[in-house]
Amino acid sequence: MSTSQCIFCAIARDSAHESPIYRDDQVFVVKDINPKAPVHLLIIPNMHLASLAYIGPGQVPIMGQMFIVAEEMARREGVTLSGYRLAVNQGKDSGQEIEHLHMHLLGGQGLGAMG
Ligand code: 5GP
Ligand code: ZN
Repeated sequence: MSTSQCIFCAIARDSAHESPIYRDDQVFVVKDINPKAPVHLLIIPNMHLASLAYIGPGQVPIMGQMFIVAEEMARREGVTLSGYRLAVNQGKDSGQEIEHLHMHLLGGQGLGAMG
C-alpha cells in the first residue's frame, strides 16, 4: 500500500480527516473507530512504517516514544492503576488490517487472558 492510500498517513497529514487526541513530532493518537474496550486508543507513528517487519535501529526513538505516549495517554484516561494492555498486530495471522504500524491501548475493563 502506498502512503497516499494509507488512512493513518491521511490522518497524520490532512486536518480534513479526524483530529488526533494527541500529537507530537513523532507520533499521534486517535480513538479506535470500532472500540473493543471502554478505552481503546491507537498510538501511531507520523512516519509510514508498514509494520514491525520494517523497523530497525533507526526506529528506536519512535518505538520508545510510542511506549512513553501510551503510558501518558493511559494516565490521562485514568487506567494506569486499573491496568491496560498494549498490543501490536504484525501480519496476516495477527489479523493486522491497516498496514501502517500502530499500537493498540486497551483498558477500562477486565481484558481476560491473552490468546
Ligand atoms: P489492526 O487490526 O490493523 O491492528 O487494527 C486497526 C484498527 O484501526 C482497528 O481496531 C480499527 O477499528 C481501527 N480503524 C480502522 N480505520 C480507522 C479510522 O479511520 N480511524 C480510526 N480512529 N480507527 C480506525
Ligand atoms: Zn501510512
